[in-house]
Amino acid sequence: MKIVCIGRNYVAHIEELKNEMPVEPVFFMKPDSALLKGNRPFTIPAWSSNLHYEIELVLRISKTGKHLSREEAGKLFGEIGLGIDFTARDIQHQLSSKGLPWEKAKAFDQSAVLGSAFLPLAAFSDLPGVPFRLDVNGKTVQQGHSGLMIFSFEEILVHVSRYVTFRRGDLVYTGTPAGVGPVLPGDHLEGWLGTDKLLDFYCNG
Ligand code: MG
Repeated sequence: MKIVCIGRNYVAHIEELKNEMPVEPVFFMKPDSALLKGNRPFTIPAWSSNLHYEIELVLRISKTGKHLSREEAGKLFGEIGLGIDFTARDIQHQLSSKGLPWEKAKAFDQSAVLGSAFLPLAAFSDLPGVPFRLDVNGKTVQQGHSGLMIFSFEEILVHVSRYVTFRRGDLVYTGTPAGVGPVLPGDHLEGWLGTDKLLDFYCNG
């Protein structure tokens, strides 16, 4: 399986990082070795001094898809989860300033935290968007809902599938809202998808 991640998908997050507004979805990938499941502790890598959390809604792909229409994209997933796209912001800035790829800052081991369950999209069908939030040490630092995304779930899948074939079991991290920030050893991270707490883990130094 592979992990596709969308960058710059919430206006307020683009503004906080002073990035340009995208005209099409920005995507990158993480390998399966990046996954961290089961709410096990996250070890902050020694080579970064500015390791950021990014809470994101995660789609789990249910079948093969290539050159998807919008209608087909809507049928490519039936459930949604919660994850963290951990990012070494200092390394990312170094790489970006030289025009180099982001993998070192984004694709390292444990950089793709995945929550303990997926919920059916139908559970949120009467809401304007799928709501989610992240607390660090008991304080809410990020919150958003899918209605704030620049590119919808379907638009993301249509775009990426022009270039990359989706397969059953692939994960799509759909971008983070504003409020990203650094983690320190001992930090306690808790994430909610709607009213379900799916993330609950600590950071180690
Ligand atoms: Mg992200």
